[in-house]
Amino acid sequence: MSRKILILPGDGIGPEITAEAVKILKACQQQGLDIELEDALVGGAGFDAEGDPLPKATLEKAKAADAILLGAVGGPKWDGLEDIQKRPEKGLLGLRKHLGLFANLRPALLYPQLAEASSLKPEVVAGLDIMILRELTGGIYFGQPRGIEERDGQRVGFNTYVYSEGEIERIGRAAFEMARKRGRKLCSVDKANVLEVTMLWREVMNRLAPEYPDVELSHMYVDNAAMQLVRAPKQFDVMVTGNMFGDILSDAAAMLTGSIGMLPSASLNERNQGMYEPCHGSAPDIAGQGVANPLATILSVAMMLRYSLDEPALAERIETAVGRVLDDNLRTADIAYPGTREVSTQEMGDAVLAAFNHA
Ligand code: NAD
Repeated sequence: MSRKILILPGDGIGPEITAEAVKILKACQQQGLDIELEDALVGGAGFDAEGDPLPKATLEKAKAADAILLGAVGGPKWDGLEDIQKRPEKGLLGLRKHLGLFANLRPALLYPQLAEASSLKPEVVAGLDIMILRELTGGIYFGQPRGIEERDGQRVGFNTYVYSEGEIERIGRAAFEMARKRGRKLCSVDKANVLEVTMLWREVMNRLAPEYPDVELSHMYVDNAAMQLVRAPKQFDVMVTGNMFGDILSDAAAMLTGSIGMLPSASLNERNQGMYEPCHGSAPDIAGQGVANPLATILSVAMMLRYSLDEPALAERIETAVGRVLDDNLRTADIAYPGTREVSTQEMGDAVLAAFNHA
């Protein structure tokens, strides 16, 4: 049966970079992949056209899709909108909520050709390949009660860090399954020496472990994990953690790779329906100039093929094509350095397409 892919270009550089990724999806189609492509408006583009960052028609198409490819949303044009429900990022949050996208996959993968771009020594990061699974719909960002109130004559701010066993088990299983598809090592990150909620987290992870005897489970406190990520990041294969710790650790891990223009991400629900997007934003400072790096979006298509469409061979072919283009010394401005050839967004997309077709 044909599978539906929804393309949401969004704002800023979004339309430029998704156009290059769509070329690769169409090439997959020509290779026999049975997919239907549709597009829709989201973010500022949705607000401008329909007065809503998540127009009804977009949400309906998103619910019906097997996978979504998103560019990026936001920009100064909409920063002044007084009604925060109309802000572009509400489009993204709405999609996450309505689709139940609870597992955020953030790979930190360093192409050896870009080892010099990292702020760490090349020998510490060369060959780095970590997958961080962040729980995306629970934890302290959503827990109730929350607020700021007057107590004993002064204002007090409070939030609630809460996870149910079911929520922990759901992300835990996704992480064990992920480890099985990779290096079979899973590190669960918590603060079980201080926080009861993460004592439960650790207990549930340990309870699941015997069901995955081929995966080696370890535990690490979040403060140590932050330290180990910058000291010896290659010790990690898959890391799993809650919403807040994952937010922080995945950004730190992403930066080990040097360029934000290279990093894809995925958010999945229980049916493996997923939203795939680059980790970066809409880069309004370079929008419309044809200089944005499309590789994070192209690599997001590879993740889509692997995790929602179960086409690992095509995914690998895209990743190999990206490696080949870097071997050929082609670079967009954000990853260029003396001795490399600087190319435009479109030239980079065309080069990956050519490498993909010749693989
Ligand atoms: P940003 O990621 O858009 O840009 C940060 C810097 O990285 C800029 O200098 C930009 O030019 C550069 N950059 C980003 N992507 C690049 C690419 N593909 N190629 C080359 N250079 C690239 O972050 P920001 O400036 O903080 O935010 C800009 C807008 O994007 C804001 O409106 C923000 O809310 C939005 N945003 C959206 C998302 C999303 O859609 N998921 C994520 C983060 C930020």
